[in-house]
Amino acid sequence: MQKGNIGVTTENIFPVIKKFLYSDHEIFLRELVSNAVDATQKLKTLASIGEFKGEVGDLTVRVSLEKDTITVSDRGIGLTAEEIDKYINQIAFSGANDFLEKYKNDANAIIGHFGLGFYSAFMVAKKVEIITKSHKEGAQAVKWSCDGSPEFTIENIDKADRGTDIVLYIDDESKEFLEEARISSLLKKYCSFLPIPIAFGKKKDWKDGKQVETDEDNIINDSNPLWTLKPSDLKDEDYKKFYRDLYPMSDEPLFWIHLNVDYPFHLTGILYFPKVKSNIELNKNKIQLYSNQVYVTDSVEGIVPDFLTLLHGVLDSPDIPLNVSRSYLQSDSNVKKISTYITKKVSDRLQSIFKNDRKQFEEKWNDLKIFINYGMLTQEDFYDRAKDFSLFTDADGKCYTFEEYNKLIKDNQTDKDGTLIYLYANHKDEQFSYIEAAKNKGYSVLLMDGQLDIALVSMLEQKFEKSRFTRVDSDVIDNLIIKEDKKGETLEASKQEALSAVFKSQLPKLEKVEFNITAQALGENSSPVMITQSEYMRRMKEMANIQAGMSFYGEMPDMFNLVLNSDHKLIKEVLADEEKECEHVIAPIQKEMNEVDKHRNELKDKQKGKKDEEISTGERDEVNTLDKKWEELKTKKDEAFAEYAAKNKVVRQLIDLALLQNGMLKGEALNNFVKRSIELI
Ligand code: ADP
Repeated sequence: MQKGNIGVTTENIFPVIKKFLYSDHEIFLRELVSNAVDATQKLKTLASIGEFKGEVGDLTVRVSLEKDTITVSDRGIGLTAEEIDKYINQIAFSGANDFLEKYKNDANAIIGHFGLGFYSAFMVAKKVEIITKSHKEGAQAVKWSCDGSPEFTIENIDKADRGTDIVLYIDDESKEFLEEARISSLLKKYCSFLPIPIAFGKKKDWKDGKQVETDEDNIINDSNPLWTLKPSDLKDEDYKKFYRDLYPMSDEPLFWIHLNVDYPFHLTGILYFPKVKSNIELNKNKIQLYSNQVYVTDSVEGIVPDFLTLLHGVLDSPDIPLNVSRSYLQSDSNVKKISTYITKKVSDRLQSIFKNDRKQFEEKWNDLKIFINYGMLTQEDFYDRAKDFSLFTDADGKCYTFEEYNKLIKDNQTDKDGTLIYLYANHKDEQFSYIEAAKNKGYSVLLMDGQLDIALVSMLEQKFEKSRFTRVDSDVIDNLIIKEDKKGETLEASKQEALSAVFKSQLPKLEKVEFNITAQALGENSSPVMITQSEYMRRMKEMANIQAGMSFYGEMPDMFNLVLNSDHKLIKEVLADEEKECEHVIAPIQKEMNEVDKHRNELKDKQKGKKDEEISTGERDEVNTLDKKWEELKTKKDEAFAEYAAKNKVVRQLIDLALLQNGMLKGEALNNFVKRSIELI
């Protein structure tokens, strides 16, 4: 028997491995099984080129559990004593401390960087043995043993079979790895698609109500996963089945894309567009990343463009540097090329479905939309491709490409300044009456009710030339698209004021809601009262909800316009009745106000052209007193209007109807409305 020291420059490598790599202890199994698979594939290669002339035989890699040990066995190339010395004993470990400090939270980085794969066994084992016999003719079998100190022993032994057994004596803190279920789930996670069959014990059967082992190996992996096969040999059902195996709980996918490149990098894989039941369900980290069929990670950010991390499936590439930090990944030129390639592939595939089977594309649009919108918003090159197959849906559910829609509305929805107005609604039911009004006018209304539509609208306004998006309820129908300057058939100022004061006094107090009241001549067949919300303010508030740094707008109250239709019979009646009832109170107040105003104007005229210091305090006080007087009278007048309005049930009723139509009539106010309605009937 020989003894020796493991050639690391840092004496205490094992405590370091244990201490720093704690978060990822489980990967020891991946490392050992991958090594066994590598050794087996090397043997296969040697056999195929005639360098190994012996019997290849069964090449299954076996993982077995005993009372205190885990053993990983292969029938690969094995190791000679010299090779153990070279590959296992002498680990180059320069600058270890610095490196460990930097990557102490990232076990993958250390392990891959230093070829410490095998040594990861010491994260869970107090003693490790390598029992191995090289494939070389006449090789002497050896047993290497190490108890976690930098000392090891190596001795000659008898071993019938070629290949290597790695035996782990599991330490007390790692007993969990002696449980069958735990190992089983780890094998499933890391080894499901390794290219050599992996057996974990024997298959079990039910016999007489008990589980018994059969003679058949329990193979845990699919060594020829779908993505490694030729697309031309595969049927739709194969792709669907593979998807079900990967994501048993998910609905059938919408589409898939089989990726296969050899140059200038290696990449295979299958990406699926999942069917999302609701937007909340959108899940990142569903794509699994493999390197030569070894599972690496399910966080692919930085490798695929952000919007594609919403897809499902697998990517396999030995060309992605797996053991470096994420920020490094993003600047790696291979990774950049891969990302560009995937974007292009995805858009090509969508484009081809759109072209060849538009009906199917439209049917799936609702599910696809979130991916495509996300891509267009975040990735310029994707927008340039997607603008040709991205769809608009109108309020009746009809789909158009951007170009088709532009053609459809160009003639009828261009305003007097030549701006093309895209009308949209974001809630079919809530904005029903506005949508109807627009349709009656021959306009088309888009339905923009997706999660990303607010942001999309802003982007499209910048992309489309001379175009604006306006929500159907942002103004009265005649003002949505202004085709010519108004003739100016408005109400006299005093009547405007009276109407506005009467209605204002009866508006319910709503929290963080403000109303601006105007009277407009909208034709006798339009609604008497309408509520609109300015597109600009509403959008600012919407953006504030989804974007940081805009809380200023978020804090502002909601501003609505209450538009009174002065052409409508009911409004005319209110006005006539108000004049009749209030004349005797209002007229004297108004007369007084006019006098105050006249006097004030005279004073102001006199002061005109004078410098501040030339105006006497007396004169100044006089103006102030008149201002105050005027305000008092104005308040008195408003009170008179309010007193009248409180008795006029029609005013309240009209306001409530407008609120109701906008879903703003709630609680007690709604209750009062119902009561009043019954009384009026
Ligand atoms: P890496 O696999 O990254 O090279 P490891 O520490 O995992 O680093 O392994 C070091 C070397 O030991 C391998 O390169 C290989 O030559 C050898 N080795 C490890 N496991 C086996 C095995 N099961 N059969 C044959 N050789 C092995």
